[in-house]
Amino acid sequence: MSSSVKGMRDLWGDELRWFRRIEEAVHRVFGAHGYREIRTPILEYTEVFKRSVGDSSDIVNKEMYEFLDKGNRSVTMRPENTAGVVRAMVDHKLLVNNDPQLFYYMGPMFRYERMQAGRYRQFWQIGAESFGVASPESEAESLAMLFDFLQGLGLKSLSLSLNSVGTPESRPAFNAAFRNFFDARADSFCGDCHRRIETNPMRILDCKNTRCQEALEGHPTMVEFLDDASRAHHSRLKELLTALDIPFVENPRLVRGLDYYTRTAFEVLSSDLGAQSALLGGGRYDGLVKVLGGPDTPAFGWAIGLDRLAMVLKQLHGEAPFNPPPLLIPLGEAASSKALRLARQWWALGLSVQLETRGCALKKALGSANRMGVKLALILGDGELEKNAVAVKHLETGQQEEWALEDVPLKLRERLSQKP
Ligand code: AMP
Repeated sequence: MSSSVKGMRDLWGDELRWFRRIEEAVHRVFGAHGYREIRTPILEYTEVFKRSVGDSSDIVNKEMYEFLDKGNRSVTMRPENTAGVVRAMVDHKLLVNNDPQLFYYMGPMFRYERMQAGRYRQFWQIGAESFGVASPESEAESLAMLFDFLQGLGLKSLSLSLNSVGTPESRPAFNAAFRNFFDARADSFCGDCHRRIETNPMRILDCKNTRCQEALEGHPTMVEFLDDASRAHHSRLKELLTALDIPFVENPRLVRGLDYYTRTAFEVLSSDLGAQSALLGGGRYDGLVKVLGGPDTPAFGWAIGLDRLAMVLKQLHGEAPFNPPPLLIPLGEAASSKALRLARQWWALGLSVQLETRGCALKKALGSANRMGVKLALILGDGELEKNAVAVKHLETGQQEEWALEDVPLKLRERLSQKP
């Protein structure tokens, strides 16, 4: 009768444990680089995305959860977070002094995607954005953070696919050369590419159609048409990446399709899953802040899919084990009151313990404990109450022993420190 909305799923158990591990790494690693977290609303006025993601993109055209609110204003559930972060920077006037502003975010995004494996309609992204710095050094810093984060999670075979898309000033020369190239073999390109040659030629470079990809053999590259400053920027970034031991390959077909994207564009590929697949993408977007009504501000950022990253980590490392805390089982009313007081003392000491509060028979309590994967049951019956002790049952081995109540915190700590 009831099921979750198509493309949207509950996160729990092993998958959620991987999400949590990743999120903890994000706070730790990004925080160490001086990035601050920002959480923007899930709903934004539709304009924010139309102006930033771009009217001609698939996201805006086909994939947005867009509706009128009760006040008849068009609002959209964010399909990505850069637009919201830029809107927030402008709202809070964080960019007026030209100070560098470093922010990261994570949270759910919504796209009405065609259903396929690993694609969801509610999915999660982690992203980092740096505002106010135009230098290749800021890009190298952000990419170093990204690699430290991914390598820290155990991903090994990462490589950066890199390009420069130039600037709005250098692009007309590329577009003209590309148009000549295109016209000479126009028949080989798909209908979408014929539209793109009029609206946004560089988007042809990443057309998914294999015939178009073959027809692109020998195409003019954007890097050949860079202005001097963009060329120097690109070389310097490559020099810095080499010095940082971040492996990269130049990919002249890598594009970020909109006008406010400038210079650096990149993807990170991982072969940890066998075939190389893109884990994330990003680049420089010096024109966007202005598009959203802010001061002219250089910016650089990227976004990574958390769902996909969690999947890769699970395949690499297996399940993220769940260790439920020991279960304290009181038998009878007097033991129940004592157990509540004891558990509270132990919680206050920072220990983890779960309380059986059903007042049920021992057999039933142990049955549930076994099904929940509990490894240790601390049983408090009348006999134990008299002796100020607990009966301790190791559920994996069936072994029993007795601990004095005053020794319990120490014994629990010892067990924790013995865990691998
Ligand atoms: P994009 O914002 O389209 O550049 O996507 C950045 C990353 O987000 C991708 O590399 C994916 O890992 C992830 N992503 C995008 N769309 C989805 C989706 N529908 N479901 C799951 N992950 C997604």
